[in-house]
Amino acid sequence: MYAVTDPATGELIEQIENASDEQVRAAIGRVHQGYSAWRRRTVEQRAAIVARAAELFAERTDELAAIMTLEMGKRINEGRGEIGIVVDIFRYYAEHGPALLADEPLTIKGGRAVITKEPIGALLGVMPWNFPVYQVARFVAPNLVLGNTILLKHASICPRSAVAIEQVLREAGVPDDAYVNVFASSRQVPWMLADPRIQGVSLTGSEQAGISVAAEAGRNLKKSVLELGGSDPLIVLDTDDLDETVRATSTARMRNCGQSCNAPKRMIVLSGLYDEFVDRLTKRVAEYYVAGDPADPNTTLPPLASVAAADEVAGQVAKAIEQGATLRTGGRRIGPGAYLEATVLTDVTPEMDAYREEIFGPVVLVFEAGTEAEAVAIANDSPFGLGASVWGTDAERNTRVARQLEAGMVYLNSAGGSQADLPFGGIKRSGMGRELGPAGIEEFMNKKSIRL
Ligand code: NAP
Repeated sequence: MYAVTDPATGELIEQIENASDEQVRAAIGRVHQGYSAWRRRTVEQRAAIVARAAELFAERTDELAAIMTLEMGKRINEGRGEIGIVVDIFRYYAEHGPALLADEPLTIKGGRAVITKEPIGALLGVMPWNFPVYQVARFVAPNLVLGNTILLKHASICPRSAVAIEQVLREAGVPDDAYVNVFASSRQVPWMLADPRIQGVSLTGSEQAGISVAAEAGRNLKKSVLELGGSDPLIVLDTDDLDETVRATSTARMRNCGQSCNAPKRMIVLSGLYDEFVDRLTKRVAEYYVAGDPADPNTTLPPLASVAAADEVAGQVAKAIEQGATLRTGGRRIGPGAYLEATVLTDVTPEMDAYREEIFGPVVLVFEAGTEAEAVAIANDSPFGLGASVWGTDAERNTRVARQLEAGMVYLNSAGGSQADLPFGGIKRSGMGRELGPAGIEEFMNKKSIRL
């Protein structure tokens, strides 16, 4: 069942039946059939439609932001910011697609060859609720420009976002057999992947969903791109403005109520700074983040996406405390609705579950490191490898540390960001493949070599 439930109040607003197996099969048939016509259009024609989609997303910013606020509690201003990045992504692939898809001549032993960049067919997208429009954009914009068609299964708590995205694409000129939203359930995903008409799958979501989808894709010899969870380290080496470092790092952690895959969930601070950093961070988190209505632009702490999500994160915090972690501030559920106080935990040790788990909510863990090498060791001691960040005043030292981190992407003196032209993705249990930038258009591409 798909359902819209306002996480600020817990009120159920709308329910939508899952698609039947027959409806899902028909949707697969549509994107399969639509592929031959869509791929025959020129790259320029497809790029023009994607450029038009960018303009329509920009026009609908307020409407889309309001949907996200209702469905998953995103602060209204953050919703507007999310659509800003979505517009950038559609513009980026519209503008750069033709060059990224140009033939690549190759001089080879005994002659010449050319690599052509071709689509592979109908793809399945399985998307999460935390950035309901941005996650879809990362997958859809490059693949539409490339010439693949898309069947999209969105998270079951954001059906209105799913419908709104489909409407924008339709109005932009994407044919109704080149992009199709389907209210499939996660139980239907395995046989959707087994269907020979589907050529690959992109999933953004939890580790568990990733394991299931990758296994099914593998069994059916289909390509998969997996953008999964993270527990990104943020290393503070030194600072010439501690208040600003505390403000910027806590803001990065609390963005989207802490529900960003690449939020800096583990802060690792060198000993000389640690005590003062923890004191000031605790003070800011306790004072600044006050629960409120996510539709009010002045709210600093919105609800989590659902009551179940808030209960789960509160449970992780309670368990960490029970296992010996120190609660500096926060930790309590606030009701009605899906609120959890912004929380700071210290003294988390490797024996505790919180040390290795992803905590998908407004919770910061802070670790003390004696040396730069120890900071790197703590940072890398995680099953995840999505993003990381290094904060300090010495650019050379920051880069040296960045190079030692086991992560798909490292930011210096900023954290948790994303932009259209910079590849995004992780290693280890954070997944495989890349989205955004030039890399993002290559994942479901047939780089065909033609020997001339
Ligand atoms: P989720 O529960 O895994 O759901 C994501 C999507 O997968 C939903 O559409 C869900 O459908 C579907 N799904 C769940 N279990 C499935 C299964 N066994 N087989 C097939 N599909 C399945 O994740 P979430 O709670 O929405 O999102 C939060 C997670 O996503 C976090 O771990 C976060 O770090 C990660 N994430 C990663 C990135 C990245 O780029 N690396 C970006 C954003 C989020 P239903 O809704 O119908 O269950």
